[in-house]
Amino acid sequence: MNKYLASVIENVKKKHANEPEFVQTVEEVLSSLEPVVENHPEYEKFDILNRIVEPERMFTFRVVWEDDKGEYHTNIGYRCQFNGAIGPYKGGLRFQPNVYPGIIKFLGFEQIFKNALTGLPIGGGKGGSDFDPSGKSDAEIMRFCQSYMQALYRYIGPDIDVPAGDMGVGGREIGFLYGEYRRLKGVFENGVLTGKGFSYGGSLIRPEATGYGAVYYLENVLKHDNLDIKGKTIAASGFGNVRWGICKKAAELGAKVVTLSGPDGYVYDPDGVVTPEKIDYLVEMRVSGRNRVKDYADKFGVEFHAGEKPWGVKADIVMPSAMQNDVHMEQAKQIVDNGVRYYIEVANMPTTNEALKYLLEQKNMVVAPSKAVNAGGVSVSALEMSQNSERLVWTEEEVDARLKNIMDTIYKNSVDAAERNGLGYNLVAGANIAGFERVATAMVEQGVF
Ligand code: GLU
Repeated sequence: MNKYLASVIENVKKKHANEPEFVQTVEEVLSSLEPVVENHPEYEKFDILNRIVEPERMFTFRVVWEDDKGEYHTNIGYRCQFNGAIGPYKGGLRFQPNVYPGIIKFLGFEQIFKNALTGLPIGGGKGGSDFDPSGKSDAEIMRFCQSYMQALYRYIGPDIDVPAGDMGVGGREIGFLYGEYRRLKGVFENGVLTGKGFSYGGSLIRPEATGYGAVYYLENVLKHDNLDIKGKTIAASGFGNVRWGICKKAAELGAKVVTLSGPDGYVYDPDGVVTPEKIDYLVEMRVSGRNRVKDYADKFGVEFHAGEKPWGVKADIVMPSAMQNDVHMEQAKQIVDNGVRYYIEVANMPTTNEALKYLLEQKNMVVAPSKAVNAGGVSVSALEMSQNSERLVWTEEEVDARLKNIMDTIYKNSVDAAERNGLGYNLVAGANIAGFERVATAMVEQGVF
């Protein structure tokens, strides 16, 4: 491997051994950049790689909130402003008990390249808290969000840093966060957050954008093999934010998603999650924060497999859409043994590096990386920022058409970047390279800081 590249990876491994998720993503991205670093001596000259793995700024803050019984709790809040070379920092907030700096930094690092791939002017950022929203009342969630924003509001703004949702943060939380921001600042600066409700500046299509975008990307992959999405079956994990968008768009295009999974197990629905009634049920699960997919199985009379994941199900396409490191070697082998040809990552980093390498080595397998596939969410966030700046509202058709166009461009740019660097049809390396080149060029042109 290129010496400079290897030294940066070694450095990160040594310095951040206690942040394995961050080390994992740095290794995955950087190890695909070899031809780029060889072709661009200026990247080494200006030490772009050591700079890009170091957040421009990252802070933690105390979040104290009162529960419904009048007791006080203290959580940690985080925001990582990872790279602002091509636009205001942009990325979601994750509220989950396992959140710690390694998770925030892995997500923030992915976000840099994802956001660059969209071609839109958004830098990379991420934030969150170790707060557990499950089982909390609306009033508790509101008090937590208000306290969170009391610490964060000084450091964000429509041209500075624009948070949005991620796991544990949806429209309800964004509403509470924005209300507190507005109260504290006394301005109607709604471009400071995205994923807002439609009545105060949210974009149409934003809730379903990640899922729709993933299906548009999948269409491109299939088209490359002269195939139509119509009639295809999809096995996917997860049930939350992203899933109903995938189910809805797939159904609209004549394909069917046949599985759902949650912490309790997975559901196999051979007829597919295709009817409005089933899709509405997923939306309702998302809105109410429930996470038992068994309820779906009971309601619609389909198979439920307690404590299992859906990778044993036969399908044309697999889409891991739950959380990071969902697919290890064992599951990857199961997927390959099932004769699946299309492995389309949706959740951020759902595959371990070992399993990803194994899948990429399979001749018959096409692997698409999450930072490209799930970029539809942040893309429509950027379109929401545009509408807020213009003080205009775009129609559903306009947002959807732009989203499709962005996803087609992401696919094309990834394919071109891999080919240009002699890597053949490699969507994983192509996405890393296309995203990296844009940010690295901006960093070189902006001088050393
Ligand atoms: N959390 C989403 C992601 O992983 C969306 C971020 C955003 O809209 O800013 O890309």
